[in-house]
Amino acid sequence: MEQWGTSRPTRAVIDSRAIEDNVRFFLSRLSPGTELMAVVKADGYGHGALRVARAALAAGATWLGVATAEEGVALRGQGISAPILILGASWGEQVKLAVEADLDVTVFHPDALRETAEAARRAKRAVRVHLKVDTGMGRVGIQPEELDADWLERLRSTPVVWQGLMTHLAESEAPDPGFTREQVSRFLDVVDKIRRLAALPPCLHVANSAAAVRFPGTHFNLVRVGLGLYGLKAHPAMAPLVPALGLQSRVVHVKQVPAGFAVGYGRTYRTPGPLQIATVPVGYADGYRRGLSNRAEVLVRGRRYPVVGVVSMDQLTVAVPLDHPVQRGDVVTLIGRDGDEEISASELAATLGTIPYEIVTGLGHRVPRVDAGPR
Ligand SMILES: *Cc1c(COP(=O)(O)O)cnc(C)c1O
Repeated sequence: MEQWGTSRPTRAVIDSRAIEDNVRFFLSRLSPGTELMAVVKADGYGHGALRVARAALAAGATWLGVATAEEGVALRGQGISAPILILGASWGEQVKLAVEADLDVTVFHPDALRETAEAARRAKRAVRVHLKVDTGMGRVGIQPEELDADWLERLRSTPVVWQGLMTHLAESEAPDPGFTREQVSRFLDVVDKIRRLAALPPCLHVANSAAAVRFPGTHFNLVRVGLGLYGLKAHPAMAPLVPALGLQSRVVHVKQVPAGFAVGYGRTYRTPGPLQIATVPVGYADGYRRGLSNRAEVLVRGRRYPVVGVVSMDQLTVAVPLDHPVQRGDVVTLIGRDGDEEISASELAATLGTIPYEIVTGLGHRVPRVDAGPR
């Protein structure tokens, strides 16, 4: 039986089998010898990091990626033993946490490399580092021209295990592949330079989800897949992926109202004629953003109905024609499928002028994540 939250009927339903299918979709498209890192940062893009990690590893992923040492420590505490890479910078106490939890660390500054080695020495453990090169994202990473013989000598003489060389793509979703080619070519120049001066580390990784599907030349021996794991799409080539998250609630109140009836804060909506107003206990504190007021739709009994009035912190209202059946207790689908209709996180993102990443990672802590029942 699927469980509903105990306090109110609002919940996110997570389908681990969709995540497994999505991992297999990526694996089927990877170059031979390329492994898959499941990126589970930000609590698995809001889906629950542990659940996603387990599903992804069961389906053939061999690495996990997180944003912070704390996220990696939490997974270790829950019994995850696969290699975990911290994709962002590790800072201060985080370096110690990373070493103690056997997490791989991303480095791009000599001081960070030194601090990482020092933390490993104190803990009497080995630590694996991945050197990040900035080939065009402009965020973190050393510039290709900075990676010289001195840097390589520093890596060689510092007591860490040099596990990986990585970069991150800025435009892998863009229709024009030009800049991705440019970044790959800069990365290859770095690879050549290292080969001439020293030995390459075992893992070379560049691709995110869109690149993994679109550009085999970005595969090297590891790809870092986030978005696609969750069935969210950034490019038409990702169309076969299956969304893993549904956001559902129930109608808690229905009323029949006359024309000219005002709904919600600021009375931004007035009924154009007699209608039913159904109230749903989901609001912007749940991550259903206020910008969706008078713009989004929800599904009830397999049909679309508009969200009318302002989305408040904990509730929203939906207009249903008088001759359509709607009752207290009816399931309301805010993200997901009901019958032939579907509302995707991408649809809500487009309405808000943002990307689906922001929709799923923005779902509130008070929305319980529950496992989907049998298909
Ligand atoms: C988040 C992240 C990814 C995953 O990107 P998606 O577009 O979600 O697949 C890959 N690499 C790095 C460095 C990241 O921070």
